[in-house]
Amino acid sequence: MRTMVRTRFAPSPTGFLHIGGARTALFSWAYARRHAGTFVLRIEDTDIERSTEESVKAILDGMAWLGLDWDEGPFFQMKRLSRYREVVERLLREGKAYRCYCTREELEQMRVAQRARGEKPRYDGRWRESKAPPPPGIAPVIRFKNPLGGEVTFQDLVKGAITVSNGELDDLVLLREDGVPTYNFGVVVDDLDMKITHVIRGDDHVNNTPRQINIFRALGAELPQFAHVPMILGADGERLSKRHGAVSVMQYAEEGYLAEALANYLARLGWSHGDAEIFSKEQLVEWFDLAHVHRAAAHFDPDKLRWLNHEYMKKVSDARLAELMKPHFEQQGVRLTDGPPLEMVSNLIKSRSATVLAGVAAANPFYSDDEPPPEDLEKSLTAEVRPALVDLLNRLSSIGDWNDQSIMEVLNAVLKERKLKLPQIAMPLRLIVFGRAQTPNIGPTLAVAGQKRVLERLRKHVGT
Ligand code: GLU
Repeated sequence: MRTMVRTRFAPSPTGFLHIGGARTALFSWAYARRHAGTFVLRIEDTDIERSTEESVKAILDGMAWLGLDWDEGPFFQMKRLSRYREVVERLLREGKAYRCYCTREELEQMRVAQRARGEKPRYDGRWRESKAPPPPGIAPVIRFKNPLGGEVTFQDLVKGAITVSNGELDDLVLLREDGVPTYNFGVVVDDLDMKITHVIRGDDHVNNTPRQINIFRALGAELPQFAHVPMILGADGERLSKRHGAVSVMQYAEEGYLAEALANYLARLGWSHGDAEIFSKEQLVEWFDLAHVHRAAAHFDPDKLRWLNHEYMKKVSDARLAELMKPHFEQQGVRLTDGPPLEMVSNLIKSRSATVLAGVAAANPFYSDDEPPPEDLEKSLTAEVRPALVDLLNRLSSIGDWNDQSIMEVLNAVLKERKLKLPQIAMPLRLIVFGRAQTPNIGPTLAVAGQKRVLERLRKHVGT
């Protein structure tokens, strides 16, 4: 039987879930789902100074919002310290690791001397075979006995074969003096214990992989497969950062992006399936493969994300859009009970709104009493338009079944009789009813606004 696929996402909780992390999580999730495997969430919180509970929560919130459900975890590395200690003891026993008593100053001197000789700074292995008695008062770190000769080769599922000579690698620290593992050690023990079959991560870690492979081998363990996904750049070719605008996933939620649109966009950042641009998570799961992860860096394009979001907005259900808009109105202190059902308004505005926030702005006039700018209204209320609106007011008030069709019948009759064009009437009508010149199509808009409001506003501005 083939082994079940197990992937993981292993964020360090030192900030919110950002675009790059979310994309890595999405790829790992999609690969696990594609192969009916298991997706593990592991929190790499060994950087005690920078790790926070809020970050853990922000990351979990971001994943939940994107719909990246995990099957196991979250596991916290700081809760696994005894396990790292146990593995290190084994490596010590087997002579594959050793205690190093170098002080910070000593290491610094080593670096300075190496630089002076024009060498690359690296730990020189002075405690590797040392039989010297341990100096008193110094808590040692545990270092790995990296193989001295040969090379490490692995077949990266994205980048192809990668080979690094062991001569390039020094004896890295596995366990610090306080018993906390370094990233490279913690990750190996965890990937091993969690039976990870595919390590999918950002290619900023590609240089760590040969070190990790050596540790896997020292533990006599089977290697997982590795897939290093290329980084994400801003439009200027620099690595994506705050300078390029929002990088936090939840900021996109706040700015009115739909989770499925962002997930779709992230999927296309460095991966493609033919020329498919718009696809569901189900399709992603059906199609996702590492062979089509691009080798070159991906470019983050906010305009394309907005375009994609707009496509999803057009298809979102009225009820869901209403739910998404509601909290924004509450925040703005807008009373929805004063206007038509929000679902009806959603239906009207969604195809014109690129984001939920744009939808809120477009829906707002239905719930506010904004008056038109007097000079605009004056300009459009010409000598022939004003009596036409009076006529329209009278006819609209006698409509018994208020809907798009009955409204347009009356409106067209007035236009025809008075030889006017639609914009001549629609423009002042919009200004009068909504206080603004732009709204969706006049018929459905007036229908949704309701007869009472339309008549009240018309009476106020052109009533006699
Ligand atoms: N904690 C590491 C990071 O956030 C994880 C790298 C890995 O997936 O191995 O970059």
